This record gives sequence, structure tokens and C-alpha cells, in this order.
Amino acid sequence: MRYIDKSNCCAEFDKYVNNDSPSVWDEFKTDIKLKLHQHLWREQQGLCIYCQQEVPEKKETEYKIRSHIEHIRPRRGHNPDKYAHLIFCYKNLSVSCEGFDCKMDDSLNPKKEFCEHNKENEYDEYKFLNPVECRDIEDYFSYGIDGTIHPNNNKNDEDKSKAQYMIKTLYLNHPTLTDMRKKQYQLIIQEQEKGLDIKDFLNPHYELPGFYTMLKQLFLQLGV
Ligand SMILES: [Zn+2]
Repeated sequence: MRYIDKSNCCAEFDKYVNNDSPSVWDEFKTDIKLKLHQHLWREQQGLCIYCQQEVPEKKETEYKIRSHIEHIRPRRGHNPDKYAHLIFCYKNLSVSCEGFDCKMDDSLNPKKEFCEHNKENEYDEYKFLNPVECRDIEDYFSYGIDGTIHPNNNKNDEDKSKAQYMIKTLYLNHPTLTDMRKKQYQLIIQEQEKGLDIKDFLNPHYELPGFYTMLKQLFLQLGV
């Protein structure tokens, strides 16, 4: 996960919320929803809010569902009114993958097993590291070249337990994700051998490479 700055609102969405005062998410106008989805996707520079895999931009004609608008503080749950006031709150909205490898073919019937689909309605106010609130969220995690993610050992026990809670809640060590991260790491190694300048590659572009935080940590900070 990485920090997402939410200061750049979506004008169409704001206008709709101010004019129509919607309260039920499922009645949300689909054309505005698409615009919001695309806006959030750009804000996250093309990566899932939680696992950081590359998510394709949502197009009107796209039939494959590869991502959805995620309520970070859940809109449903054991206590449904708890976050009801945040259902249409821009700062609570993000784009999450569907819990499988976005590049996987539909014919393989991919199961939804990580990120929002594992998190569901879980949100511990004390432990949840919220990517739109926690500015140093990247520092809570460390990555292995085998694709695994761990709490950062340099953090204190309290912070490590928060990181562990996130890894478990989002199932960030799901075998599919560890495999994807490992492959991404190995791909960059191969590209470096062909002359890729890693500093230039990881310079923040409009769209970021998948698992951006892992790459930054392994190649720039640790110099693996
Ligand atoms: Zn994800």
C-alpha cells in the first residue's frame, strides 16, 4: 500500500452528491459512477488501493469486471449505521481489484480471494492502516525477493501488529499475490540486465508499475 492524496476531488461526483443528496449506494447513477471510478483510478495511478497490482482502466464498453469502487470504511456490516455517513464521502472511496490477478482470463473462473474480497466489512479503527490517512504507510511493510510481504522489523511492536493485521485482513500473502510480486521482481532484474535504468523506471509517472512500493524498496532503498 501507498499513501493516496485525496485533495483532488471529482467534480461530476461532487455535483451529483450536492444536487441529488443520494443515500443508497445501489441507486447511484451509473454514468457518474463510471466517471468517479475513472477519477479514482487516475488518482491511484492505475494500481489497486491495497495490493498494488495494475488494474486496467474501466471503460464504458468493458465487459470484464477487474475492479470496483471500494468503501475503505465499509458501507455494510454488523453495525450498518456506523459508517453510513461515509457512503458518499469522497475520502472513503477508492478502487480495489477483484481479489484475483487482473490479467487472468475469465474462462478460468478466477476466485475473489484477497484485497476487498477478503476484507469485506472488517475495519478496526485502531489497527487499520488507511492508505488515504496514513502518510507513511509504506514504511510499515517490507518485501522479500520471494514475493512475500511482512511487517517492517524496524517498527515497534504496536506498529508491527497493525501491519500484520492488514496483511491478514487483505490476505496480502495469498499465493497468487506472492507469485505476481516475485515475477514482477524477476522481470525487472531481467530488464535491468538489458539496460533498464531503475531510477528512471520508478520515477512517478502517470501510471505506475505494479507493486510499485515493493520495487521502490527492493531496488532503490535496499539496492538488491
Ligand atoms: Zn488488490
